[in-house]
Amino acid sequence: MDTTRIINEEKTHEFLAIGKTFSKAERLEIIEKAKDCHGLSLVEAAALLQIKEENEMDALLRTAKIIKEKIYGKRIVIFAPLYTSNECQNNCLYCGFRVANKGLHRRTLETGEIIQEAKAIENQGHKRILLVCGEDKSKTTIEHITEAVTSIYNKTDIRRINVNAAPLNVSEFKKLKEVGIGTYQIFQETYHRETYAKMHPSGPKSNYDYRLTAIERGLEAGIDDYGIGVLLGLYDYRFDVLATLMHSEYMEENYSVGPHTISIPRLRPAMDAAFTEAPAPVSDQDFKKIVAVYRLTLPYTGIILSTRESSQLRDELLTLGVSQISAGSKTNPGGYEEMDQEATQFETSDERPLDEMLQVICDQGHLPSFCTACYRTKRTGAAFMELAKDAHIHEFCQPNAILTLKENLIDYASRETVEKGEILIREALNEITNPKIRCITEERLQEIESGKRD
Ligand code: SAM
Ligand code: SF4
Repeated sequence: MDTTRIINEEKTHEFLAIGKTFSKAERLEIIEKAKDCHGLSLVEAAALLQIKEENEMDALLRTAKIIKEKIYGKRIVIFAPLYTSNECQNNCLYCGFRVANKGLHRRTLETGEIIQEAKAIENQGHKRILLVCGEDKSKTTIEHITEAVTSIYNKTDIRRINVNAAPLNVSEFKKLKEVGIGTYQIFQETYHRETYAKMHPSGPKSNYDYRLTAIERGLEAGIDDYGIGVLLGLYDYRFDVLATLMHSEYMEENYSVGPHTISIPRLRPAMDAAFTEAPAPVSDQDFKKIVAVYRLTLPYTGIILSTRESSQLRDELLTLGVSQISAGSKTNPGGYEEMDQEATQFETSDERPLDEMLQVICDQGHLPSFCTACYRTKRTGAAFMELAKDAHIHEFCQPNAILTLKENLIDYASRETVEKGEILIREALNEITNPKIRCITEERLQEIESGKRD
């Protein structure tokens, strides 16, 4: 299978080499140009990935913040992962679930246990779940995944389920589409073939091309809402970030649908991982640069930040372009009901529960959103991008964020969170300039107060 049409390594290196030839003045010009929210070319992104100096970094981060606020406003979408299984046939050297880890307590949740976990997540106040599992052809079958999705939708008030799972074939993707998932997420881990081969020595995941083409098979099956990313720390981040952007450009050019989200997982310590230090470490400063370069290059693509990062860095990144975060996460199957360190995929860093996280988000002036309306009104994929590009996102998403936060404050939040949240709701209402939309939002707020739910 020739996949150089998607990722051409030589070209990626060539773009990176051209990016190095830009002067400081030219890089600052690119940053200035990015403020119009039309995105950047691959070569321009390559140039920005070279930034080292503090004043250039400041300009880059400031611009990321401006773009984020222009497009997404103050909203930060919130979700929690649900691990259904840690059984896996692969041997990804960095992951605690790898088959060579004989000390891990292995477990695949039954449907009833999955519902229990989803209810525990719901009881924290979440409305969105990311379903995650290992790759074991006899345990985490497509039926395991679809049954999990259907039963969570049927038995809980969770309104959107995204799925991060191993690559599927077209007929399996069709089954995933039928049960109404939100986003299908798959990380290439590294686009650098040689490193990929080293990191994935055995099991189905050792097939680089099958993984790289998963999104295309998903689209053939009708899944147009997809997320990509690399595991930062495996190979030179400049190459991998540029290759992620190249993947996005390929999809946009050939299918007119760019990624709905890009995730930025950075390597964490994991039980029995093959190395303790990242092979290509990414510093906090580089990490911030990566978020900003993604934001400037793909202004309309969501950026997802997980609890792999420390609370301090997460708080900073909220202003720099991230649009979705997980909170109160557990990375072992059954983790919301019980804690078993010997069953986790990797160590999380930010352990703050959702309620505390909501307070932090409010304190920073951001608006926590539990909204899932786009998915439920079928505004996904290209349709969502059109909405975002028309800037309807403000008119449509801001009220939904306000309303879902209100529901959360009434149903789940602590007194402190309610106080902070109510102030924010008032501020956010004042920002709605269209009087009709504002009026409808106020009416809906009253309905929620009197017990009505979406
Ligand atoms: N098993 C499937 C796969 O590998 O595609 C899906 C879920 S896997 C559990 C989700 C992601 O976790 C992987 O794609 C990888 O990027 C990330 N991951 C694995 N080990 C990690 C580690 N030690 N630190 C941070 N992220 C890790
Ligand atoms: Fe299995 Fe995914 Fe972990 Fe690899 S990253 S060992 S495929 S769970």
